[in-house]
Amino acid sequence: MLSLGIESTAHTIGIGIADGRGKILADKRAIFKPPEGWGIKPADAANHHKLHADSIVKNALAEAEIEMGEIDIISVAAGPGMPPCLSVGMNIAKSVSREYKKPLIGVNHCLAHIEIAKLLAKAKDPIVVFVSGANTQIIGYMEGRYRILGETQDIGLGNALDKFGRSAGIGFPAGPKIEELAKNGKYMELPYTVKGMDLSFSGLITHASRLLEKKQKLEDVSFSLQETAFAMVTEVAERAMAHAEKDELVVTGGVAANRRLCEMLDIMCRERGGKFFACPRKYSGDNGVMIAWLGLLAHKAGNKGIQEINSRWRVDEVDAGWV
Ligand code: ATP
Repeated sequence: MLSLGIESTAHTIGIGIADGRGKILADKRAIFKPPEGWGIKPADAANHHKLHADSIVKNALAEAEIEMGEIDIISVAAGPGMPPCLSVGMNIAKSVSREYKKPLIGVNHCLAHIEIAKLLAKAKDPIVVFVSGANTQIIGYMEGRYRILGETQDIGLGNALDKFGRSAGIGFPAGPKIEELAKNGKYMELPYTVKGMDLSFSGLITHASRLLEKKQKLEDVSFSLQETAFAMVTEVAERAMAHAEKDELVVTGGVAANRRLCEMLDIMCRERGGKFFACPRKYSGDNGVMIAWLGLLAHKAGNKGIQEINSRWRVDEVDAGWV
């Protein structure tokens, strides 16, 4: 069975094609980059996606060496995300599904990150640390659903790093640049905010940005920002593993590319006799393959997904019968 997956929730328009055994046949993407110093304007990203959609679909089919008629299901990221961007993907999915008379399965973008990470990292029943631009959630599967055990109360970790990057004038996305700068930095204390199982990053970012105004070295602030934010995530992840009695942990989302974050999570796992996995870099950011794969899992479990966008769709609202 072949699934065509459409991702368009934020900055990336991606088309992926996968089969029922998890083989990846095609992966094409185009990424919207806002002007230097700006965040993403949803309408601009949506226009970018519309502009690139046709060629990306064609290129993905060419890479898989198949025709659209050979696809069995159309999977689309129906939420959460930016409504204008989500609509681009949903409109493509609807028109292809109508024209080729194939089932349309609207899947949850965050669950797609989780399932592709599990597939590629070969983890069975992990606690998932999902750290992307907009999302920071610590998730575990329990009694039929993925449950959010802890999450950010304000902005996602990636967006927090990008916000700091804007005040430091280091461009977007700032995460990789902060990682590089941190290699030559020294530690200074910053606000550490873990409330129960939840996290908060905005005070940390404001404080770090003020230190730059006070002429502290960018390398030192970058290092301290990483150490503090990643320690907060690691603390909550450790408590989630203990509470849910799980001995595997998978990190995914764009921030999972950060080596220091992976190192901290890995040390924590080893110290408690657990196993650490990272989603391969290529598939930890937004992509169409993960949507194609979750569509297949849902379809096989008889889950039809949703047929309209839902910009605030949470993972714990989905019956994950395929697990
Ligand atoms: P979402 O998937 O929640 O809609 P998104 O699409 O913005 O959010 P991703 O594409 O998964 O998120 O990740 C992008 C984020 O990852 C950016 O905020 C970027 O700064 C961050 N990032 C990328 N590489 C690194 C790195 N090496 N270290 C830290 N952060 C990183």
